[in-house]
Amino acid sequence: MNKKKAQTALMIAAAAIFAAAAAVSVYQLRRTKPNTVKIISDGKVLYTLDLSRESDREIIVEYEGRRNVIVIENHDIYVREADCPDHTCIKMGKLSQSSTQIVCLPNKLMIRRAYSSEESGTDGTA
Ligand SMILES: [Zn+2]
Repeated sequence: MNKKKAQTALMIAAAAIFAAAAAVSVYQLRRTKPNTVKIISDGKVLYTLDLSRESDREIIVEYEGRRNVIVIENHDIYVREADCPDHTCIKMGKLSQSSTQIVCLPNKLMIRRAYSSEESGTDGTA
């Protein structure tokens, strides 16, 4: 009985610690409001950009002869031109308006947000 109680207490403590850690990471995520995006082509990170510091410009990414014209504008990013068949990446619009990423499947292109935990190499082990 006592052993079981101790075990339960331990589990509750572990759960509490886990919940606290999760809460802290969510808090940090919200507080830092990362504006870092990664442009990934065929699984390779081509660019890591901090949109809050970027001035307006164009980035052209090519994959097997097909290209995507990525535009940075007003600290936002979107695909303006692409010669993929579906143009889904263009239709997704600006990153700030889409969910967390813009994807061009045919051209294996991905523009996604990078979270601060990725940048700082995570100190998750306590
Ligand atoms: Zn596309």
